[in-house]
Amino acid sequence: MTEQLKNLIVLQDLDQMIADATDTEFAKSQSKMGFKMDGLDKLQETRNELAKRIDEKLLKTYERAAKRYKQAIVPVKSGVCLGCFVKLPTEVACRGQEDFIKTCENCGRILYWVDYS
Ligand SMILES: [Zn+2]
Repeated sequence: MTEQLKNLIVLQDLDQMIADATDTEFAKSQSKMGFKMDGLDKLQETRNELAKRIDEKLLKTYERAAKRYKQAIVPVKSGVCLGCFVKLPTEVACRGQEDFIKTCENCGRILYWVDYS
């Protein structure tokens, strides 16, 4: 897995944490427990720093997919995109084994491979 892709997966985690922290119900329950909202600033700061290290084109692809789906980056298992469960063309499935970053032609999510055989 490339460094870019690893960064992108962390970015997705951060985005989900930010989304949770800004979700009103969740934020309410957290503030009851004494969670300070400056935690959110830290999350956002980390997110921005990380975003700078990711290729601009890749970041745009991610942000486009993230607008449509909760999970913008999904694993591929046995040649199947686990975002939409459509079998990928052999050509895409093979190239995924290398350092290319691929998106699913069906759903547009960014793919990463979990079977290394
Ligand atoms: Zn897909």
